[in-house]
Amino acid sequence: MKIDIVTLFPEMFVGPFDQSIISRAMKKKLVEIRIHQLRDWATDKHHLTDDRPFGGGPGMVLKPEPLFGSVERLKTENTKVLLMSPQGSVFKQTKAQSLKEESHIIIVCGRYEGVDQRFIDELVDEEISIGDYVLSGGEPAAIVVVDAIVRLIPGAIGKGESLDNESFNENLLDFPVYTQPAEFRGLKVPEVLLSGHHGEIARWRKNKAEEKTRKVRPELIV
Ligand code: SAM
Repeated sequence: MKIDIVTLFPEMFVGPFDQSIISRAMKKKLVEIRIHQLRDWATDKHHLTDDRPFGGGPGMVLKPEPLFGSVERLKTENTKVLLMSPQGSVFKQTKAQSLKEESHIIIVCGRYEGVDQRFIDELVDEEISIGDYVLSGGEPAAIVVVDAIVRLIPGAIGKGESLDNESFNENLLDFPVYTQPAEFRGLKVPEVLLSGHHGEIARWRKNKAEEKTRKVRPELIV
């Protein structure tokens, strides 16, 4: 899988993509991630990427020329173009799973008041929001989306990690987990988990997952 990210702030990706699962997946060549400076596609002599909004009002808007230039240059026949935007549909685990199947994704990070609508109308396949709040830019959202996709690629997660029993599998949140010591400051690990009885442990975990989901995310239970 290839992921191209178009941004005015490429440095924001250095730390997050340099660590742990994403970095390992890149080293194993499970994913190729390339970060592109939007300004490189600016067409005027001052390399401007934004301008004032037509119709007035505060803030600046990302200009169409560098947006069209970058995406048209990077796009191939099988590319999915995503724009990070609070106006998009909210990113979910099911979306991460379907994006994992794509061979090439371009993620465009907005800034300021947003991007010129003509770019969205002509070249964006999908606008994605990571939640109902407004960020200063699309970069943190792109990092979230890439992380959620890459960890699902077979071979990306390490031996000590697992995609089984995760929140949102089977429309449930995950069950509570405990580790050593079995007693800490008088707080005991539930007896059933020490019993070695796999059937009872599985039942207890399912009950706890349902209890938690009903309490905090009842809409997940269909
Ligand atoms: N004027 C826009 C609005 O009210 O919908 C907000 C623009 S925001 C300050 C700048 C950029 O941050 C957006 O173009 C988008 O790329 C990104 N962004 C902000 N919130 C986001 C969110 N919840 N999910 C994904 N991207 C977001």
